[in-house]
Amino acid sequence: MPIAHNDVVSIHYTLKDDADKVLDSSAGGEPLAYLHGHGNLIPGLERALTGHEVGEQLKVTVPAADGYGEYDRSLVQKVPRRALKGIANLRVGMRLQAGTEQGPRAVTVTHIAGDMVTLDGNHPLAGQNLTFEVQIAAVRAASEEELAHGHVHGAGGHHH
Ligand SMILES: [Zn+2]
Repeated sequence: MPIAHNDVVSIHYTLKDDADKVLDSSAGGEPLAYLHGHGNLIPGLERALTGHEVGEQLKVTVPAADGYGEYDRSLVQKVPRRALKGIANLRVGMRLQAGTEQGPRAVTVTHIAGDMVTLDGNHPLAGQNLTFEVQIAAVRAASEEELAHGHVHGAGGHHH
């Protein structure tokens, strides 16, 4: 059955950047299960999978704008270390929740110099073209409950 809106799709995938470096992969684990058409995947990948069937292999290059977005310099801010004093072992690479005017936002500590800490609110993969090698492992219709929740239950999905 060709992948369509409201299907539960299981995929094995390997994600590479423009330099052919592997960023993420499901190899050796269970496939990723997602609900098609509900924004559970980045838009460019979800769109590319539409209409394909079980067993197919695809190579999809998603430009940054259809992935995790272009890199936005306005999301980088410097704060004094004392603003983060509740956080133990502050170090570069750490992911934090920062309070912003738009509500909590995930940020990455990208630089620490003296008393100043640089926080970057961009997704770690923002600004990158992403190449996915995908194998479609399974396709089935979603249950009523899965559609109501907007995500997949059971193997490869949510357990709750
Ligand atoms: Zn649920």
